Amino acid sequence: MLFKVFPKEELSRLYTLLAPDRIIGPLTKGRDQHGHPLYDFAVSRNFAELRLDYGQTLHSLKNFFLPYREDLCSFSFPKDGSGNWHKEVDYGAFVPLVFFGLHPCDINALNKLDKVLLEGRYPNPFYGAKRAKAFIIGHSCTPQPFCFCRSMGTDTVLRGFDLFLTPLDEVYFAEIASSRAFHLLEQLSCREPNDHEHRRYRQQITTRESLFEAQVETSDLTKILDLEFQAPVWQEWGRKCLSCGTCAQVCPTCYCYGVEEKVDMDFTRAHKEKMLYSCNLLDFASVSGGHNFRPQSHTRLKYRYYHKHRGFVEAFEESLCVGCGRCGQSCLAQITVPEVIASVRASGGNE
Ligand code: SF4
Ligand code: SF4
Repeated sequence: MLFKVFPKEELSRLYTLLAPDRIIGPLTKGRDQHGHPLYDFAVSRNFAELRLDYGQTLHSLKNFFLPYREDLCSFSFPKDGSGNWHKEVDYGAFVPLVFFGLHPCDINALNKLDKVLLEGRYPNPFYGAKRAKAFIIGHSCTPQPFCFCRSMGTDTVLRGFDLFLTPLDEVYFAEIASSRAFHLLEQLSCREPNDHEHRRYRQQITTRESLFEAQVETSDLTKILDLEFQAPVWQEWGRKCLSCGTCAQVCPTCYCYGVEEKVDMDFTRAHKEKMLYSCNLLDFASVSGGHNFRPQSHTRLKYRYYHKHRGFVEAFEESLCVGCGRCGQSCLAQITVPEVIASVRASGGNE
């Protein structure tokens, strides 16, 4: 990793250098009931509208890589009876995307998705095509009261970005992880950090670590989940859950999907569409013949927790949760990961 510093006012120049590509960044998207600003990732048209001091965005950025709906392929069948049907596949990676100002949790979330969708047994070329066109600029964050990324080991990030910026007094402290980022910074008034800036950077890390409030105790969690598979506490959470699927939609690492095939009435065209889905939805585990493997809400909610905190850990030796807290923030039933995990951990001890 290379470290450089450049004056803060040069950041807008970096934005301009990248502007020929499509820039996605944190923008203000209205206000909540208390008048606090709400943020979301969206296409940015000018540097001034970027809100790099944002706390957390409502949605993750996964939908730029995994759209809610995506055509997998379409087929055309000529009416001449020749049987020369034609198949079209479009990966939907139109222009290079620059992600400007991602927090460590969201970069770590992409790294986790990569494990399944790029490095897994069945790589997803739709995801891979979009990922290959992405340039990622990370930005340090201020921990929010609901973030528990520190518990999940995702409060810092070592890879998965081109450039990572930490504001320090008058300069940005830049971690450079790609040759494109290096050559871009060569066009700014960039220099080596001095001893004082090194110290300030280390101090800033220590100060930030002290600001985390929410926590999840993860030691032996997979074992505890195995032991508490039948714990009554799952039914209590199931009674609260509305099975709305919002948690999966906002989650940066939920990637489950369904596939629909549609055929035109005149049988000349057909297409196959993939849509993101949620394991909390009633019909997620329904199969042909009408059988539903998880008809009760608590079994579906439990499945989501076991995939994130047990199954994925067994497969990849890390959790599929980055502790961003979005699911808890958006859940109408106020179900949060720290509370669910704490209640499951406590359930054995209460007997
Ligand atoms: S946990 Fe909350 S957000 Fe998720 S499905 Fe249940 S009610 Fe909806
Ligand atoms: S499960 Fe919740 S806290 Fe964990 S990554 Fe998904 S949205 Fe964030």
